Amino acid sequence: MRVLGRLALLVIAAFVVLVAVVLFRTFTYKPPAEVDLATVKVAPPVVVDVDAAAGRLSQAVQIQTVSHQDPAEDQPAEWDRLHALLQSAYPAAHAAMRREVVGTKSLIYTWPGSDPSLAPVILMAHQDVVPVTPGTEKDWKQPPFSGAIADGAVWGRGSIDDKGSLITLFEGIEALAKQGFHPRRTVIVVSTEDEEVRGSGARAAAAALQARGVKAEFVVDEGLAVITNNPVTGGRLALIGTAEKGYATLKVTARAPGGHSSAPPNDGGGAVTLSKAVVAIAEHGFPMDFRGPGAAMLQSLAPTAPFAIRMAVANTWLFKPMIVKQVAATPAGAALLHTTIAPTMLKGSPKENVLPQDASAWINYRIAPGDTSAGVMRRARDAAGPLAVTFAWEKPPAEPSPVSSTTSDGWKTLAAVAAATTGAPVAPSLVTAGTDSRYLQPVAKDVYRFQPMDFGLADIGMIHGTNEHMTLKNLGQAVQFYARLVATAAG
Ligand SMILES: [Zn+2]
Repeated sequence: MRVLGRLALLVIAAFVVLVAVVLFRTFTYKPPAEVDLATVKVAPPVVVDVDAAAGRLSQAVQIQTVSHQDPAEDQPAEWDRLHALLQSAYPAAHAAMRREVVGTKSLIYTWPGSDPSLAPVILMAHQDVVPVTPGTEKDWKQPPFSGAIADGAVWGRGSIDDKGSLITLFEGIEALAKQGFHPRRTVIVVSTEDEEVRGSGARAAAAALQARGVKAEFVVDEGLAVITNNPVTGGRLALIGTAEKGYATLKVTARAPGGHSSAPPNDGGGAVTLSKAVVAIAEHGFPMDFRGPGAAMLQSLAPTAPFAIRMAVANTWLFKPMIVKQVAATPAGAALLHTTIAPTMLKGSPKENVLPQDASAWINYRIAPGDTSAGVMRRARDAAGPLAVTFAWEKPPAEPSPVSSTTSDGWKTLAAVAAATTGAPVAPSLVTAGTDSRYLQPVAKDVYRFQPMDFGLADIGMIHGTNEHMTLKNLGQAVQFYARLVATAAG
């Protein structure tokens, strides 16, 4: 009895200690990347005529800089029209900055700083837009290239992605130039021509900047935004992408003798071999882990998150498997935690009664920071084991970006301006798509991805989808963001 009693006491004591440790860590938790944004002196707001700015965004949306997989389908004159609009709409910005064309239609603007010892900052926005899916035009509340200003918004393809950034960036610079602002630090604007298809403009711009020895303090491009109903705290949250995933498509092919389907081989033929390989690859997923920018987001939110989340994040030594399970409950959450595998296209024989001679599957990967395309290939081969299939990249894979700092001066400036202009808490996160900023990595210390606009999770579908529109509230917020970012970083 006495021994049992002591044992029970020990167990209770151990439990009390465990609870005490968990609670102590919860209440004293500080995110690893926490920086004091109050140390940044954010420049004051500028005077913005939102209605006039909306008119200029409307004009930009009406110009159909639609980029296609086949460049022969593009209308190059539309890019020229957009260039002419920028030149006529923003005279003060054009008087202050040197303009050059690189690649075919990409633009580099340089606003020279008075102190050459300071590293420049680079702001990016692309000129091209994705097509409107044929047959969906009638689903738009306003015609997709009308640039209609209605219901408190500018409507049309590109009103957000990415003419929304381009126009508000120029509005911000125009306002500063008109005020007589002179940057101490050089400001470079890079506006690329074909972000949605090839990224050739971004590569040309990066090469030009590299040739002149530019090493920028930071780059800001599109990528993430202010989410108004984030799933962690339920409220607004300004997410800044500190990294983006890599992109690769693996073509898996099973070759077989083919022939008439009335006498199939005992193993079922190429289609069966291919199917087994695809299933094996898809089921041999990359392990999920609570690390990198996806984890950094939860860590920086933890102090303001509900108690259970705060406790779990402060005690990953105990709760990591639970956190991973929770985050991975949605596909978007799971994509933050690992490299994703998505079989997308399949090809067999051209006829229902013919066995395929080569059956192929295309598997699209989004590679998480820390993984590589070589690792993707290795994992696919391992999964397929002895199955008679071959592997080839559909096109050269893009590796994931490095992870940018969340303690650097660049981060502090960007985060402080984002917080001041949006009024939302700021957190780093991972961009699961790709942006042109990846090509600028060699010419900058840090690359960040942020559009200073509010979106509900349900709104995200309008980007590349139907009814893309920029609210006038977002328009004003974005102009202030770019103006105050430039004035703070370069002032
Ligand atoms: Zn875009």
